[in-house]
Amino acid sequence: MVLRLPKSWSICSTRSTSCSSSRPPAPPGWRKATTGTTRASTAIDWIRFNCHLTDKAAGDLVAVGRNSGGLPESAQAMQAGEIGYSHLVVLARTAEAVGKAFDETKLLKLAREHTPGRFYFKCQHYRHSLDAKGYAQEQADLVENRHVSLSAAEDGCLLINGVLDPVGGAVVRAALEPLARKSDAEDERDLPKRYADVLVELAHGGKPANLQITASVDTVKALTGAAGGEMEFSLPVSSTTVQRMACDCSVMRVLLDQESVVVDVGRSKRVISGPARRALKARDGHCQWAGCDRPASRCDGHHLVHWINGGNTELSNLILLCHRHHWLVHEGGWQLVKTTDGQMMPIAPTVQFARSRGPD
Ligand SMILES: [Zn+2]
Ligand SMILES: [Zn+2]
Repeated sequence: MVLRLPKSWSICSTRSTSCSSSRPPAPPGWRKATTGTTRASTAIDWIRFNCHLTDKAAGDLVAVGRNSGGLPESAQAMQAGEIGYSHLVVLARTAEAVGKAFDETKLLKLAREHTPGRFYFKCQHYRHSLDAKGYAQEQADLVENRHVSLSAAEDGCLLINGVLDPVGGAVVRAALEPLARKSDAEDERDLPKRYADVLVELAHGGKPANLQITASVDTVKALTGAAGGEMEFSLPVSSTTVQRMACDCSVMRVLLDQESVVVDVGRSKRVISGPARRALKARDGHCQWAGCDRPASRCDGHHLVHWINGGNTELSNLILLCHRHHWLVHEGGWQLVKTTDGQMMPIAPTVQFARSRGPD
């Protein structure tokens, strides 16, 4: 691809301010090249609009072009097929960052030996070796850019958007990755879904959460005509969700009668007490869903017969289930059946097909 920029148009990054004051006026008409209304303020913008590239791809082209004079051996190596264009981009970006200290011969040797991703990693070490203070300042700048925004969609879903610095991000990933592995061979969730489940699990599982759920007794019993339950930051929640959250008794619950008078607060007599919970953890050790080995510390205590239906808190009526499988039992409609050898066998919900309509 041959790219012709307007004559005398200086090339500068979208983040650079060094050439803004000496920028010549752009030739008439070129700004409208793509959308008719877009006004490019930098060369990267111009390339982006006219060549239909992403910001990064346009920035890479500019970086390579700007530093090509200092990369003669690298350009030759790319033409000879010894390195790829991605290597050349990393070399150009590194040359831009370290200035006169750039040692093309040394880095080209590394480029020939490593994949672009690994080579980028090596170049970061190289940059640190040349200017540790500058590298630290860059990292500090990235921390300043951190942000996470939480907003609620109309349907009540939580929208999460944000940026973490490399070290903070690595800490988060180190916590998420081990828990985001597939829980068993039949786990069909893709990675984004598993990340979502892990976030909720980390926020809620393994310890009493600071959650309070308010519902009527009718709601917990899932009686027809009952309103939904309520919890902070959420739209009304379904009775099956109320049942699950009240099942382990790890949430503070407030039950109301039909006149909205409080009839039950807290975890009271139905709580799985400390000794009972320890005994449950010792007996089960991990989630009791067949094939799932989520450890006890990340599990809820599930009542096989819910206390709202008269179930007790004896060990014989309790099993450990991880957050996902506890959800499947309550909201997902799965059933757990105890086999003769004491194992819990999950039974999938019955799929009901709509009856075909008869002739009118
Ligand atoms: Zn349960
Ligand atoms: Zn499980």
